[in-house]
Amino acid sequence: MTELEIPRELLPADGRFGSGPSKVRPDAVASLSAEAAGYLGTSHRQSTVREVVRRLREGLSHLWSLPDGYEVALGNGGTTAFWDAATFGLIEQRSQHLSFGEFSAKFVACVKAAPQLGDPEVITAEAGTHPEPRADQSVDAYALTHNETSTGVMMPVRRPRNTSGEPASGLVLVDATSAAGGLRVDPSEFDAYYFAPQKCFGSDGGLWLCALSPAAVERIERLGGGGERGRWAPHSLDLAIALENSRLDQTYNTPSLATLFLTALQVEWFNENGGIEFAAGRCDASAEILYGWAERSSFAVPFVAKPDERSHTVGTIDLAAGVDATHVAGILRRHGVVDTESYRKLGRNQLRIALFPAIDPADVEALTRCVDWIVERLA
Ligand SMILES: *Cc1c(COP(=O)(O)O)cnc(C)c1O
Repeated sequence: MTELEIPRELLPADGRFGSGPSKVRPDAVASLSAEAAGYLGTSHRQSTVREVVRRLREGLSHLWSLPDGYEVALGNGGTTAFWDAATFGLIEQRSQHLSFGEFSAKFVACVKAAPQLGDPEVITAEAGTHPEPRADQSVDAYALTHNETSTGVMMPVRRPRNTSGEPASGLVLVDATSAAGGLRVDPSEFDAYYFAPQKCFGSDGGLWLCALSPAAVERIERLGGGGERGRWAPHSLDLAIALENSRLDQTYNTPSLATLFLTALQVEWFNENGGIEFAAGRCDASAEILYGWAERSSFAVPFVAKPDERSHTVGTIDLAAGVDATHVAGILRRHGVVDTESYRKLGRNQLRIALFPAIDPADVEALTRCVDWIVERLA
């Protein structure tokens, strides 16, 4: 069998469609390179690096118009480390979790294994949908996921309401790893909105960032702080220590300077072009192209049934039984169009395509034309 060669003019200008690590803008890399001699390899305790952290923290406050008293904290270890930190510093006794994919389930597993916490309340839903939180007096934290990256389901960030319509008293902790910077959010509806910058922020992994409400700050300071009043936590996972350092525009231990730089640049790129409306608008445009194409296609269909639950940052598209998605993704990969494979554990005949702000909607359009071209020739 001869190997298919996609005509060059059909290929996207940039072939990175992975859901994390994801496309890093070449302009941002060029800026890093231009500034490298005075920045990379310099102390994170000195003003050059601390200025980048300051720009990053302020830029995020500006991006979401965080109300007075909200703070941006950061630390090393990415979202996975933040989950562990939250079991010490944000969940007091017992949490409620919406579990509807690999990532939301992983936080549940952390909490279940934590001996300092009660058994969590877990509300599940089928892959491709999301459950709703329920106000519950017996929990002090609600764990939501703004965008479930493994299935391509997004859900609104909203405090659970009790029967009289009042917001529940527990903290609302939102895993926004693949949503932050790409989906709109109202800060009054969350207490901790946490993420890592290798998705919408077009940077590298290994860092966590979190927007915290005054109630979350109060809890972190009460539970943490090195053990005297609070409960014991490993120092590298102690959110009170992380917050103390963040206020000085530092991290507790040495961060990746390139990651900080690229993240700060992405936030400024958003803010200089119109803020969250600009960033989310690009994701909206890409989502319309992708789902519109799938709905018109004879061999592709959006995996998520309800249109308003289809993610605008990570699209999942099922292919008809006769079209092998792994084969299609493999042909794309040979042409430098990479990481369109579905989430491995979901086990579907599916393409998963990142729609993050850095990705040009025109490239999403080009990708759909390439898939059409391939499938026509495989038939
Ligand atoms: C990518 C992702 C994570 C994991 O992030 P790490 O930085 O690799 O720990 C967690 N949650 C969601 C929703 C994600 O998309």
